[in-house]
Amino acid sequence: MYEHSRTLFTELKPLLRDPDAPVGKRQLLRCCEGAVQQLRQGAEPERASRLAFREVRPLLALNRTLEALEVMHRQLAELQAALDQARTAPLARCAATNRKGAPCGRDALRGRPYCASHRGLAGTPAPPVPDAVILLRRPPDPGLRAEDHEDPRAGAG
Ligand SMILES: [Zn+2]
Repeated sequence: MYEHSRTLFTELKPLLRDPDAPVGKRQLLRCCEGAVQQLRQGAEPERASRLAFREVRPLLALNRTLEALEVMHRQLAELQAALDQARTAPLARCAATNRKGAPCGRDALRGRPYCASHRGLAGTPAPPVPDAVILLRRPPDPGLRAEDHEDPRAGAG
């Protein structure tokens, strides 16, 4: 779910009136997450994108609103198709072998080659955290001066 709202967010961000304003990015991310959430709860893609568009519209550059609506319709329709497919597709078998060299045979996790017991084998790194999420995790503290703020990405404070 997280990756879908991030994809939507990434496509819509350049259409914002001010793509670098943290407030707009935060609101946009919230709208994207809300739309994906609604879809997962059974809303029609048309309806989910219409509702999200209503919220996002004031943030958009005036000449990009139609484009944004199209992005939302397309992305949410694609997500709906993916959800439908995930519901009906059988789970793959775990690709790992046990100590005796026989196939593990358990159901693999969705979208992964291994089961829950063997998922450590995949060695997949955690997905990168988009800027907007870092902003959400780091609410501004009015009590601090600008130079007191630590940037978690900088590594040193
Ligand atoms: Zn396994």
